[in-house]
Amino acid sequence: MAECTSEIVLAPEPETKARQLWKNTTVRRHVHAPLRDLLADMAAGRERCMYCGDNQATDIDHFEPIDRRPIRAFDWTNHLLACSLCNSHLKGAAFPLDEGGNPLLIDPTAEDPTPHLRLSWQSAGTTRSRPGARPPSTCSTSTEACWQRAG
Ligand SMILES: [Zn+2]
Repeated sequence: MAECTSEIVLAPEPETKARQLWKNTTVRRHVHAPLRDLLADMAAGRERCMYCGDNQATDIDHFEPIDRRPIRAFDWTNHLLACSLCNSHLKGAAFPLDEGGNPLLIDPTAEDPTPHLRLSWQSAGTTRSRPGARPPSTCSTSTEACWQRAG
């Protein structure tokens, strides 16, 4: 991966070079598969998408998109497992910044996301069943994962 980064740094158009290298057949064979396997090994339990946590993670996402920082295309700390839906359609190349230019997305490789998470119930609409969640009539304690919304 360091060789690819060196090529990107020296290229007259780093963004174009990074995209070419990332899509290159040889690079895909020798970098993507082992990288994806390493990320999958690090996943606790099932290989879930780092963004939605709901779908099977099949893709390697660039947390900081190639368009924004081509030099990070092959940076280990910039790769996350994601599902195809999040990687290609929902997050995609999005990388929102605040007024000071700081990322608004939590980088899970550098920051524990737990303090930023909170459970909220939808006041209207549908609820989604999570794998392992049981219907509310079968939950005996308030700490069990039930799919019924509160109140
Ligand atoms: Zn996802």
